[in-house]
Amino acid sequence: MENKLSFYNTLTRRVERFIPNNDGKVSMYTCGPTVYHYAHIGNLRSYIMEDLLEKTLRYIGYDVKRVMNITDVGHLSSDADTGEDKMLSGAKREHKSVMEIAKFYTDAFFSDCRKLNIKTPDVVEPATNCIDEFIHMITVLLEKGYAYESGGNIYFDTSKLKEYYVFSSQSEKELLVGVRDDVGEDENKRNKSDFVLWFTKSKFEDQELKWESPWGLGYPGWHIECSCISMKHLGEYMDIHCGGVDNIFPHHTNEIAQSEAYLGHKWCNYWFHVHHLNDKSGKMSKSKGDFLTVSLLEEKGYDPLVYRFFCLQSHYRKPLEFSYEVLDNMSAAYDKLVKRIGALDRSGEVDREKFDEYRAQFEEALCDDLNSAMAITVLYDMLKADMSDATKFALAESFDEVLSLDLAVAHEKKAADSGVDAEFEAYILGKIEERKAAKKEKDFARADAIRDELMAKGVTLKDTREGVVWELKK
Ligand code: AMP
Ligand code: ZN
Repeated sequence: MENKLSFYNTLTRRVERFIPNNDGKVSMYTCGPTVYHYAHIGNLRSYIMEDLLEKTLRYIGYDVKRVMNITDVGHLSSDADTGEDKMLSGAKREHKSVMEIAKFYTDAFFSDCRKLNIKTPDVVEPATNCIDEFIHMITVLLEKGYAYESGGNIYFDTSKLKEYYVFSSQSEKELLVGVRDDVGEDENKRNKSDFVLWFTKSKFEDQELKWESPWGLGYPGWHIECSCISMKHLGEYMDIHCGGVDNIFPHHTNEIAQSEAYLGHKWCNYWFHVHHLNDKSGKMSKSKGDFLTVSLLEEKGYDPLVYRFFCLQSHYRKPLEFSYEVLDNMSAAYDKLVKRIGALDRSGEVDREKFDEYRAQFEEALCDDLNSAMAITVLYDMLKADMSDATKFALAESFDEVLSLDLAVAHEKKAADSGVDAEFEAYILGKIEERKAAKKEKDFARADAIRDELMAKGVTLKDTREGVVWELKK
């Protein structure tokens, strides 16, 4: 089939035409969440944009198999193998067992994903399911001379590789800081950049989950899980590996080191990374304690899909700053958009020529390094264009296979949820128009009276950049 999608490959540091190993088929792997706490909306930005990539691939005709791990062991508080296992700190924080914590936050993660219309990958595998596979890979790495035992732990020897820093887009200085930070902590390492494959002894003795291994009772390092789980389900050659940019180093760098040392050949051709969501104080992170979740947005009255809309309006390769002000504007724009689509008369004929023309434009935007904001512009242009309502509705439904904003159903769902019937809505919209006219004529007393009249009926008005939006207080 025609390979028309291009996106940025972190490995080659350029936007590249995507060509899978097997024609028409794509194997895709995603680093899953570390389930010691709720996912914050930054984590979910990564999963939304990865979902966009998967759905784009499917939309343009690929058969995709996507695999994701669940990190329920081995991810220490520092990505450079120091500190405490994040799962253990979660368990201590909540006075529960590690497995209870893992189950609770795995369920919470998928519940958030459902709310954001993020498709569940075809295979989801917790790390603790694959201990035998980890032991096997580590055994082979030891046999091949890429790993060594020291101080009771098994380490990967990065000096055995021709090239370790494969993603050299990061400055050497940045990399060295990460490495230098942990050198004082672990004197067992032969080289600064070596990393743990299997822990049997560590500076903390109370690790809850431990398994028998040829090297004694212990537990795996964090990186080995993604190499083993992806190979278990996708084989020795993989097309796309995804994650947030913080995963580039050390996690993905270490995954490549151990996978290619184990396999003896190149492993994954395309590396797709999503930039971070930041708040005003910097990068959003779970370890900061106080972070934004989907539930918190819901408590504040936002539809989770407004957050998805917000993410899709910006490019995955740009850092994105979160603010409630912008989210308010997105919320108003989203309401307007779904109302407009909801009002389309679906009964007529679909004009196939127009349909194909706009579908092609939509695909073109996505195929151009996943330009989701441009894809949304195509949606707006299409709604304004001269064609039948039925064609517009069919196109909105089709675009939603990728955008997943509930475009075709959101308006009716919202109306049903709010208990507002069409007649009441028409009355509110009429009053909003009346108020707009009164304001234009500088009749502010009349404008305020209209606002009060609506308020008495439980309807509050909010002025936003996108115009006036209304809300029914229950
Ligand atoms: P974790 O649960 O910490 O293993 O992270 C899950 C995913 O979220 C990984 O792909 C991270 O790279 C990504 N991630 C972490 N922080 C952010 C952020 N602030 N914005 C976007 N993605 C993030
Ligand atoms: Zn991973």
